[in-house]
Amino acid sequence: RNALELERVNVFYENVQALSNIYLKVKENDFLGIIGPNGGGKSTLLKTILGLLKPSSGKIRVFDQPINKEKGVIGYVPQFTKFNKNFPINVKDVVLMGLMKNYYKMFTRVKASEEKRAEAIMKKLDIFQLRDRQIGQLSGGQLQRVLIARALAIRPKILLLDEPTANLDSNAKSKIYNLLKYLNKNMTIIMVTHDMSIISSYVKSIACLNTELFYHGEPKLTKHILR
Ligand code: ADP
Ligand code: ADP
Repeated sequence: RNALELERVNVFYENVQALSNIYLKVKENDFLGIIGPNGGGKSTLLKTILGLLKPSSGKIRVFDQPINKEKGVIGYVPQFTKFNKNFPINVKDVVLMGLMKNYYKMFTRVKASEEKRAEAIMKKLDIFQLRDRQIGQLSGGQLQRVLIARALAIRPKILLLDEPTANLDSNAKSKIYNLLKYLNKNMTIIMVTHDMSIISSYVKSIACLNTELFYHGEPKLTKHILR
């Protein structure tokens, strides 16, 4: 079964074409690494899969359904952003955000069972003790784990990550990749990365945007999108 299918997808920002004629098939429980040069359209691809950007043409299917019928199926860990030190939201509310009914009415209550589950995820990611901290006061590794916890709280079947370990030291990195490897047992993972060592040791298949693929060796790295 395919978790995700893109067919002839084109995406524009006004006059700039960021994605051109993209075909991609991702099998359920794949761990796909997306590589490509800066400006190659990697972030645009993730945002399009999420439904944040609308293709001008082409088809996207998530578990054989058109994308907008599948809200809550896809979790997203955005590219690293630094928060202002006094940004007025704490770790726990960031993690619960995706479970709040009305996204714009922050701090609406979530179900007790969902809150319990979110707490378990925070414990697993070793951030439960930080739950009352302001989001702007975390280290890079802590913040990245909070954003992963927020994505996991909705119990996604597909997890998208945009360079999840940029800015992290190698110890924090390997912790995150070991977690992803564990989650990949019953979750499809699609990750943008520049890190070739990660690609060779964790990723099951690879897609390359907007460039030739010169990577040799691993027979398990099978997928290419070239244009
Ligand atoms: P990558 O993630 O591979 O670095 P992006 O998806 O961010 O690439 O960008 C793909 C292309 O789209 C680039 O040419 C970039 O300049 C352009 N682009 C990205 N975001 C915007 C935007 N908000 N408005 C206009 N052009 C954009
Ligand atoms: P890590 O090994 O997880 O990357 P760091 O060594 O960067 O952690 O940070 C150590 C401690 O300092 C953490 O508990 C973190 O919360 C705290 N810390 C880091 N940056 C800030 C900051 N800007 N304001 C307050 N506390 C901070």
